[in-house]
Amino acid sequence: MKNKEVEQDYNKSTESLKKYAKENGFEIPEMLEYKLIPIGYLSIDESFEKGEVSINFLNKLHILWNEGLTLMSLGFHECEFCIDEGNYKNRGRSSSEKELVDRENKVRYKFPKMIFHYIEKHKYLPPLDFIKFVMSCN
Ligand SMILES: [Zn+2]
Repeated sequence: MKNKEVEQDYNKSTESLKKYAKENGFEIPEMLEYKLIPIGYLSIDESFEKGEVSINFLNKLHILWNEGLTLMSLGFHECEFCIDEGNYKNRGRSSSEKELVDRENKVRYKFPKMIFHYIEKHKYLPPLDFIKFVMSCN
């Protein structure tokens, strides 16, 4: 799945949840109004930002990954870049995702576990806002 598809899926399910809440007289949870920003759903047919991240950022992201709820997605995602490079045997694989909520900016960041693989093996550079948010988490 690509970033755009993750966002579309989210908007679709959010709309139906809101509709359900409205029809049944439930209050709409504030988090449903937050904007979802998918991070690191990379695909071979889209270019992505490359660069170096700090070791502090990576450590922090690992800590956040291990805290709280992890979302399991259906099926495995395999790294298309590894496969493309003929590195099939050691390709990255993962099937889980995580959400971090930035309440101050009313944003939900969603990212796959593959983000670690993409950063470490393919030099993926996540958006600066995401990096800043991760570094600001306690
Ligand atoms: Zn890979």
